Amino acid sequence: MTSTSAKTAQANPARAVRQHALTSRFLGVDFVPIFPEKVPITKQDSGASASNARGGGGGGAGTGSTSGGEVELIPPPRTDWHTVDEKRAAAQKQLDAIRARYEKDQPHAKFVTAHTNIVFGEGDPCARLMFIGEAPGLDEDRTGRPFVGRAGQLLARMIYAMGLSRHEVYIANVLKTRPPNNATPTSEEAAACAPYLYDQIAAVRPEVIVTLGLPASRIILQTEEAMSRMRGTWASWSHPDTKKHPGLTIPVMPTFHPAFLLRQYTQENRNKVWSDLKQVMTKLGLQGRKKG
Ligand code: URA
Repeated sequence: MTSTSAKTAQANPARAVRQHALTSRFLGVDFVPIFPEKVPITKQDSGASASNARGGGGGGAGTGSTSGGEVELIPPPRTDWHTVDEKRAAAQKQLDAIRARYEKDQPHAKFVTAHTNIVFGEGDPCARLMFIGEAPGLDEDRTGRPFVGRAGQLLARMIYAMGLSRHEVYIANVLKTRPPNNATPTSEEAAACAPYLYDQIAAVRPEVIVTLGLPASRIILQTEEAMSRMRGTWASWSHPDTKKHPGLTIPVMPTFHPAFLLRQYTQENRNKVWSDLKQVMTKLGLQGRKKG
């Protein structure tokens, strides 16, 4: 059955529209958008999927363009899903999930610790450069942040000399909890925490990893080699779960730990570390900063 208003609309569409507008205004609606019956589709849009038509935000090729004077109302296919901010937010979300998993699993419960805080790691989740240290010390345990004590201050100076700042890199440790008396992590302790570190690396996907000292270099390179033989030579790391992270291989530069440098602050050791970092700078195209 056809209603009276439907009949009116068919017989006199202009009157029906006016009537509808008056009713809308009476109901308090000031503005009613009116679209043409058929939305013109430009050539660029002809292959756009339904999700593109619904998708928010433009910004891709062809935004706001017109074809033959027609107004383009369907957003063009989006080509910029992976803007830096979106990538960073996605990486941070992954890091948060890894941290939550670590806190739930508590791999450190299997060994003796002297911790009050978990020191998970910090920095740019999309950093091009990632530093991996050994384990938190007293200052790190107090603050929950990696490398904030004396060794951390030296590391910050090294990062600065490379032309970067602390918040532009990502810093993590093999162990996330402080060992008693700052003991060197055992290989069992390192192995228990390694899966979380590996996933952290996969989330950040840095272009280069710098391992600081023996425990980090060994767990990342899966070797028993001495530090003096590893440092200064490029190696590489791949995630052991190759199904989940296929093709993820990252160059690694092992170098001395800043705490070791502080203990043996000789010109020779400083030159060695600086030469290792200069190799990293060359790989990343960093200029470094002039002394001054
Ligand atoms: N030494 C490390 O290896 N990590 C820290 O966070 C601090 C000191």
